[in-house]
Amino acid sequence: MPFQPHKVHSNYHASFHGGTRPTSAIRYIEVHAAEALSAAGIAAYFAGSGPGGSTHLTIDNDSTYRCLSDEVIAYSAPPLNEESLSFELAAYTSWKRPTWLAHRAMLEEAAYWTARWAKKYGIPLKWRSSRALRAGKPGICGHLASSHAFGRTDHTDPGRPFPRRRFSRLARFAFMHYLRKHA
Ligand SMILES: [Zn+2]
Repeated sequence: MPFQPHKVHSNYHASFHGGTRPTSAIRYIEVHAAEALSAAGIAAYFAGSGPGGSTHLTIDNDSTYRCLSDEVIAYSAPPLNEESLSFELAAYTSWKRPTWLAHRAMLEEAAYWTARWAKKYGIPLKWRSSRALRAGKPGICGHLASSHAFGRTDHTDPGRPFPRRRFSRLARFAFMHYLRKHA
């Protein structure tokens, strides 16, 4: 079946955030794994009073939740929050590559959003290492690279086995094939 973007739910708003910014500040797209398996459950968690963190989207195999609008700064991975858009995948950092690849619908949806944001904000569809992040190069990154680059968090999601080449390819494919129809 050809790719169809998920319906986006917006019934959960993240409780914690850093207020608004000009969208011209946006230079990074962050990939996270939420250590949970339901996009709705993760969005509900961020809407509660506990976590202190937040994200723009939560995504699983069949649903996407919008927790914050693009203009709002998520508390996702300092020090890049002011310059980032982020999504939390319904996934575990401990996953090996085959498990990631078995969640193709989730990866395709996340790649689609990555492509949309890349187009809208002029972000290169390049997966960035911690060294590239330290050098200030814009693009896509995992929380892991941000943690290594800046040492401000100890999170290692989405983990080394995350299929970043495959993901970047899916994002480039989405950029070329789907955006005219849906953006
Ligand atoms: Zn994270």
